[in-house]
Amino acid sequence: MRIRVAEDILKANDLIAQDIRSILDSARVFCVNILGSPGAGKTTLLEATLPRLRERYRAAVIQGDVETSIDGERMEALHVPVVQINTQGGCHLSAPMVSGAIGDFDLTETDLLFIENVGNLVCTASFALGEDMKVTALSVTEGDDKIRKYPTIFLNSKVLVITKTDLLPHVDFDFDKVAREAKLLNPDIHVVPVSAKTGAGIDNWLALLGKHIAVS
Ligand code: MG
Ligand code: ZN
Repeated sequence: MRIRVAEDILKANDLIAQDIRSILDSARVFCVNILGSPGAGKTTLLEATLPRLRERYRAAVIQGDVETSIDGERMEALHVPVVQINTQGGCHLSAPMVSGAIGDFDLTETDLLFIENVGNLVCTASFALGEDMKVTALSVTEGDDKIRKYPTIFLNSKVLVITKTDLLPHVDFDFDKVAREAKLLNPDIHVVPVSAKTGAGIDNWLALLGKHIAVS
């Protein structure tokens, strides 16, 4: 009996992710894989980000969701090209799913591709999608123990966006502890506090994003 363990599945996924990466590289498209729990504010972060990038980059979005196109519609309202992927129960996007969606965009008209992954702090961390970087959104309402509980996602992320900071006075969330634990786990991670509601920190997030695009 042949037993396909997770490692084999990840290896097959990585090969397709490498193909995606080389397609995007040759089209000079920078790709950001956005991760985080349901309700972390991934879509809202994109809503705060995309209109502010319009002057500099032509952006497109792949929306990953278990069901519905609710978030895809929010992206369409921003007048960016959107492909919605419904995983129909699947808890993460995989490279084969993204590979199919890539073909739906005109990559010659695209500088920046955002992939909003399925809301999940666990297995989304392990499936490469051909992205240049992973960005994880963690909201202050989720609790400040997530770095230690779900280390892989923070280990694999280039940026940790702490969202909904306008709610900090109402919740027990020790920002300094989270930033310290994230840096201890992954010294390369950038920690950016933002509030999409007030706009606080959004400029820092955009500057950081711009810096990574520039050196790619
Ligand atoms: Mg969303
Ligand atoms: Zn999964």
